[in-house]
Parts: sequence; structure tokens; C-alpha cells
Amino acid sequence: MENFNAANEIQDLQYFGEFGGVNPSISDSSTYTFLSAKTMFDTFEGNAEGCYLYSRHSSPMNLYLAQALAKMENTESANVTASGMGAITSVLMQVCKSGDHIISSRTIYGGTYAFLKNFMPQFNVETSFVDINNFESIENAITPNTKVIYCESVSNPLLEVADLRKLSEICKKHNLKLIVDNTFSPLSISPTVFGADVVIHSLTKFINGSSDTVGGVYCATQAFIDDTKNVNSGACMLLGPTMDSLRSSSILKNLRTLHIRIKQHSHNAMYLAERFEKDGLKISYPGLPSHKNHELMKSMIHEEYGYGGLLTLDAGTTEKANELMELMQAENLGYLAVSLGFYKTLFSCSGKSTSSEIPEEERASIGISDGLIRFSIGLDHDIKRTYHKMKECMLKVGVLNHHENISIS
Ligand SMILES: *Cc1c(COP(=O)(O)O)cnc(C)c1O
Repeated sequence: MENFNAANEIQDLQYFGEFGGVNPSISDSSTYTFLSAKTMFDTFEGNAEGCYLYSRHSSPMNLYLAQALAKMENTESANVTASGMGAITSVLMQVCKSGDHIISSRTIYGGTYAFLKNFMPQFNVETSFVDINNFESIENAITPNTKVIYCESVSNPLLEVADLRKLSEICKKHNLKLIVDNTFSPLSISPTVFGADVVIHSLTKFINGSSDTVGGVYCATQAFIDDTKNVNSGACMLLGPTMDSLRSSSILKNLRTLHIRIKQHSHNAMYLAERFEKDGLKISYPGLPSHKNHELMKSMIHEEYGYGGLLTLDAGTTEKANELMELMQAENLGYLAVSLGFYKTLFSCSGKSTSSEIPEEERASIGISDGLIRFSIGLDHDIKRTYHKMKECMLKVGVLNHHENISIS
């Protein structure tokens, strides 16, 4: 398993276009014709290999992209969706029926949190939110109705790392499914290597990397993917978060450079994190030995891809955070925007944006402070230049004080 190399798997895929093109042809159709009515029926039932019926069911380009992502996550199969939330909700609604129970990390993407906390109880599916690395509290939360442990391999926005080996052990012992959102650490972490059953990504972020579309995927066994696409009972088939073929084509092309981009994002984030920490700023980055999950992450990553492009800075107050972000944007160091994985650095105040679904008291108790800025570090060619310009901004707004920091070298 240690030898599994996702970038090689993606590189080795060959898909040719209809006329010998080096890229596969986009099938620009929602529906497909048949010469025989019998084949149409068989296709509807999912029994006619290589035939397409209707593009919500499947389409050639979506299958290509899904196959490439299954290669990346080392699973038998995958299914692409119109958004990351489309993948998360389809998977959880497929796995859980009325009366079932989910155990979820309490530090997860705000949309996922809102779905589990507010939406699923309407269908009589309850969730216990836990500290994902407190294994005792996890075991205590397990009931006869528990079906799933849900977590993010690296969590949003606090960059907590889940111990997937240990979680998978607990899941095996209690016959639960381990479902992992790997959006923050594509290529760096391969959750299936540690025993994850389903791996989910928001393709919107690093995998597509150009902030021009939303998209999602879930990677799992062929049997599970088939269940979600079943015309009578499949959550994804029936809820219908279908990705468009034109988009799956553009995402597939971007996926091919993911390995290069991730290395640069990680390199740049590490460079800034190390220096800002030395300057005395409150930085959290799993690549720093001071991060509480540094050793754990080190034991799980494919080292060449590093610790990822996300870091957080506590600016103290929302006002200071806002002032700093506005100044950094004015200095063209990045954009005041949510999301991640873009070529430009993106920054946002988590408590006031992507984690605002989490109630204030809960945010405070898990450590999302009001002045917490999440940075998605870009692909900057000259990160030293960026560091100096960012530091000037921090001095200017007083997030960093001159006396604490004598040498601006
Ligand atoms: C963005 C994000 C999602 C949701 O994805 P969409 O594509 O916006 O639906 C889910 N999980 C994580 C960790 C994310 O960052």
C-alpha cells in the first residue's frame, strides 16, 4: 500500500476522442438513441454494458472523470456530482435510513454540519458530534443504531487531522462505515490506505483548482456506487445532483496537473507558516511541529505532497482580521473570498463565513475564534516576496508589533 502512487495512476490513464483526439470527446447530449427497444430496456435496468440512456444516469465524460478519481483514491469505482454537498448528502442518505445514527467529527465543513444537525433529523437520523480524536468518547457514543463515523481527514477550518487508522479500527470492530471527506488533502492523504470505506471530495477546491465551477465525487466499492445509482432506490440517482459533461471534461483536464499544484501549495504554505510562527504570530499549520497533530499527519501523508495549502492565523478580533484581509487584498496578495485551491491566495474569516452555520458558543468551544483567518495559500512563484509583503500588512494593521519583531529581513 505504501507503494500506491495516485499521480502515476492518473498519468497512466488513456482516453482518446472520437476522432483520435488526445482528450476524450464530450458527449453533448442528455439522451441517447437505440436501434432496438430491448437494448433500451436493458440499459434502463443497468444491464447493457457500454450503452447510455439518459445523462442523469450516466454519461461518458462523467464516467471518465469518475474513473480517474477512483484511481486517485484507490477504490473500485466513483461517481461525480454537481457539488461536494451533492456527494456528501447522496452518500449519507444512501447509508442511513430512519432510526439510524451517525457519529461525526464536530469540526467539519459548515454545510455538512448544517445538513447533519438540521436536515437529517427531519428523516429521523440523528448525529452525535464528537472530538474526532477522543476515541473513548467515540466508543461511548456508539449505539446499536450507529451506521457511520464521518470525518474530514484534515478538518475545516481548524486543520485538525483525524487518525484514520484508529477510526477504521473502531469501525471494523462495530461494523460501521468510515466516510471521509478528503477535500483538504488530495494526493497527500489516501484514506482508503488506512481503511476508509467511502472517500468524498469537493472538486470545487484543489482538484479543479481554477475556482470556475463547483463539483463533487464519492469514491467507494463498485457495489456501493451501483446502489447509489440504482433507478429504484439510489440516493444520487433519485436526488439528481448530476454534473454536466462539459464541466466533467474541464475538471478532468485540471486533475492532470494536481500533483504539481499540490506540491507548490504545500511548499508555499510551509514557507509562510514557518516564518510567521517565528515572527510570533498565532499560526496553525499541520506541517509545523507545534501543531498538535503534526506527528499524526506526518505518519499519514505521502511526504512529497507535503502538509497542504491551508493555514490559519488568529488576528485577535474580527475587526483586526477584516482590516488585515482588506489591506492584503488591496496589496494584491490574494482575494477576500471563501473557498480554496485557487492559484491566488484566498482568505476569509471562518467564524463569519464558511463556519457561520456552527452556533457561536459551539464555535468558541471548538476553537474557531472570532479573529481566525483561514488562508488557502496560492501558487505564488516568489513566495519570499509574498512573505515580505504580507508581513508589512501585518505590521501596518498591528496584528504584528514592531517591538516583537526587530528584524524584518
Ligand atoms: C467546500 C467543501 C465542501 C462542500 O463542497 P461544495 O462543492 O461547495 O458543495 C465539503 N467539504 C469540505 C471540506 C469543503 O471544503
